[in-house]
Amino acid sequence: MNKQFADMASKIIVILFIVIGLLISIFPLNAEAACSHSSLGTRYSDATHPHKYYRTCNSCGKKIYVGGQEVKKHGPGTWGSGTCKYCGSHTYSAGTPSKNHPHASVGKCSCGDTKTVNILRFSCSQCKANPKTASNSSSCSTVFLNVAGDLGVGTIQSVPVTFKVSYTNNYNQPNKLSGGHFPGTAFSSWNTQVACIPVSVPSGFSVGTAPGLSVSYYNSSNAKVATQSVKWSTNTSYASSYQTTFFTLKTMPSYAVATGVCNLGAHSKSTTVKTVFK
Ligand SMILES: [Zn+2]
Ligand SMILES: [Zn+2]
Ligand SMILES: [Zn+2]
Ligand SMILES: [Zn+2]
Repeated sequence: MNKQFADMASKIIVILFIVIGLLISIFPLNAEAACSHSSLGTRYSDATHPHKYYRTCNSCGKKIYVGGQEVKKHGPGTWGSGTCKYCGSHTYSAGTPSKNHPHASVGKCSCGDTKTVNILRFSCSQCKANPKTASNSSSCSTVFLNVAGDLGVGTIQSVPVTFKVSYTNNYNQPNKLSGGHFPGTAFSSWNTQVACIPVSVPSGFSVGTAPGLSVSYYNSSNAKVATQSVKWSTNTSYASSYQTTFFTLKTMPSYAVATGVCNLGAHSKSTTVKTVFK
């Protein structure tokens, strides 16, 4: 009885397969073969990314892809918005950093995606952990030719002058701090000072000295990677960084070059100091 039933069942299954197979293969193939899609409707693009262009055949109703694709505006991709989450790229808003170290900040994209980044805070001592100091100075000796007495009738005097430019930087390497909170910041400086002062000036003469207001940072291939602005203090022989924000770089610089200038009357001489970060 069981064997008979099994034989019957398997026969029915085989017949079903044949019938289904015939239905699937014959009818659609015949329908397609019969239509040359010679008349196509208006061009549209797929709602789903990558939005391939198509036209619908007026005879058989089949979607015919006609090549190319529509690039939509980046956005939430909601119905009717004309936007897509996958077209274009994310742009995150700045977010508000947390008061607690490492100061997580959640940026939002118009598509709804979020990205959390940690922000260095100038007032946080943990953000200034493992401090290092890079410092160097360089002296320059020059001879200014000074015209003494009235213009055109005076004698020319040689005035030997030595002046010195020095650079100091207090920084750390956030990407090396424990916790790995700042992988994208290799160098963070909170205090840069450049001074340019006279060292020896013959008596009776007075020179002016001033540091340049920008410091250049170079990589190991001697390519300039950044420029830092500094500002003069009340005494123009000294300049320092804006001490409310960090000066940060994605990669560790190899050395910095600061400048200083010394002048006597209309004559001036400039010099540089190179400071290597170890
Ligand atoms: Zn057709
Ligand atoms: Zn898209
Ligand atoms: Zn996005
Ligand atoms: Zn911090």
